[in-house]
Amino acid sequence: MYWKDYVILTSDWIRGYSRYPSHMLGRQIGQPHRDPSARQHILVIAAHPDDETIGLGATIFRQMKKGASVNVVFTTNGRGWSWIAPHRVLTRIVSRRRREAETALGMAGIASDHIHCLGFPDRGLHRFLEPLTQEIQHLLQWLNPDLIYTQGFEGGHIDHDITSLVVQHEANLRGIPVYEWAEYNPEYGIGTPEITFPQKSHRFSQPLPQRLSSEEQWVKAIMLKCYASEEPAQQAVGQGETLRVSCPAALPLLVDEYYNPERNPTGHRYYPLMLRLLKK
Ligand SMILES: [Zn+2]
Repeated sequence: MYWKDYVILTSDWIRGYSRYPSHMLGRQIGQPHRDPSARQHILVIAAHPDDETIGLGATIFRQMKKGASVNVVFTTNGRGWSWIAPHRVLTRIVSRRRREAETALGMAGIASDHIHCLGFPDRGLHRFLEPLTQEIQHLLQWLNPDLIYTQGFEGGHIDHDITSLVVQHEANLRGIPVYEWAEYNPEYGIGTPEITFPQKSHRFSQPLPQRLSSEEQWVKAIMLKCYASEEPAQQAVGQGETLRVSCPAALPLLVDEYYNPERNPTGHRYYPLMLRLLKK
């Protein structure tokens, strides 16, 4: 971690925002339950409220229509850059994002008690690797999903890549199938209708572009509009959906592609951290 991480950690601890697990800003975990009548139990794990809709909204709607039980977990509270802001501002941001997630996912038919937030700080997931791993292990044991969707490891956002790496690793240990979704990355920006994963990662697992019906596109657009406070969600109206089967064996190579300073000068800061995660 860098000096700024220690400053934020200390500030958050003093203010009672990140005293894991008792005091975490935005943390909200529903009651454990598995709907016995569900056709399939699906777990969606995203870093921030809106990622699941940008990358997977139409697929979530499709799965709900088919009779699946879908639980959605956000690893961070989505407070944005504003860690130093006054208490009332931070709580307002986090509450608004929760409300927006409930409204958006409600459009797809997901009840609010199926929406969970671990409460780790937005843009600060790298400071909580051990608890994050434990939480993911616990969730997989608790919900015992048949299928997991998570964000692609695509060199886009550090919280996305950490969430993706931990989820893929833990699911693989338990033999649970995982699909990644493409959201945005250095090659394909947000809002791209034919969104896909970075070209250099195609050799590990082929992208699976999803053909969306007009109803699915329409519902996804409404879901995105529910995230009124989030510019990326507004920019993503019209974005397509592409999945790929998770390939855990590719993760060391992807970490090397996106984070090794010899290949990618912008990724070096988190390279040691990614290597640590891979060794788990
Ligand atoms: Zn995000």
